[in-house]
Amino acid sequence: MNAFRVSTLLFLIVLAVATPALADLRVVTTTTDLAELVRAIGGDRVRVEAICQGHQDPHHVQARPSYMVTVSRADLVVAVGLELEVGWLPALLQGARNPRVNPGNLGYLESADAIEPIEVPAGAIDRSQGDLHPLGNPHYWLDPENAKAAAMLIAARMAELDPDSAAYYQENLQRFVDRIDRAMNRWQEAMAPYAGTRIVSYHRTFNYFFDQFGLVGSGYVEDRPGIPPSPAHLARLIRMMTQQDIPVIFHESFYDRSTSDMVSSRTNARVLVLPTSVGGAEAATGYEELIDVIVDSFTQAMGER
Ligand SMILES: [Zn+2]
Repeated sequence: MNAFRVSTLLFLIVLAVATPALADLRVVTTTTDLAELVRAIGGDRVRVEAICQGHQDPHHVQARPSYMVTVSRADLVVAVGLELEVGWLPALLQGARNPRVNPGNLGYLESADAIEPIEVPAGAIDRSQGDLHPLGNPHYWLDPENAKAAAMLIAARMAELDPDSAAYYQENLQRFVDRIDRAMNRWQEAMAPYAGTRIVSYHRTFNYFFDQFGLVGSGYVEDRPGIPPSPAHLARLIRMMTQQDIPVIFHESFYDRSTSDMVSSRTNARVLVLPTSVGGAEAATGYEELIDVIVDSFTQAMGER
């Protein structure tokens, strides 16, 4: 090897050490659904971790120290917003001591900014009532149109944080939007025969899904969001469900099902235990699969009536 080659080789080695490989964007999301969106947009240029798992109630997550470590290394934190995570995310952000991802900075994003919330309370909010939805219903991700809107907002922020990958993120976003549009045709076709069907759910988790697919959320097993039912509330609910012949109770997989089962036993309604996030059921392996599970469970139950 001549001197020129050795020096070239040395130069290349120095270059390889001095220039780190294109660094991945490190993203932490509060939920698995948001992680799916980030993954779809970021492909192999992001590392993403979700804090709340699909089988957990996103209103109530324990702010573990290990999550703080994860957040301390993040370039971007993506939250659902509308105070869904108000019981645990502020403690994680504080413990993480990573100002980049604090609210108000480029590294913090609430995807609720992309959507139009429903059930926004009018007038003063009385938290002593235990209302979990003070800024409106935060469970918007079960409407695929909202998932698309959230993905667009997330992609724009990722491009701001990582301009070199902006075109790549945009391409992936378009691919995700196309995928959802195609799936939307299939979901709408499957749901069309049941337009106007009145449904009861345990919590108000599915109301955006109902709105999108023509169902009507007519009652809730819990009294108010986060408040367990009183006997009087259940008696009223059972009477209403019998009068209106409500066919199914949408029951979120992480809630104890005994009350929903009791209501079911006194009415003609069948309990459908459903995932509300990616990973909340074995088949809910991705965003489209999550919607598939809900659509399939419902249409199958209706078909069997
Ligand atoms: Zn809720």
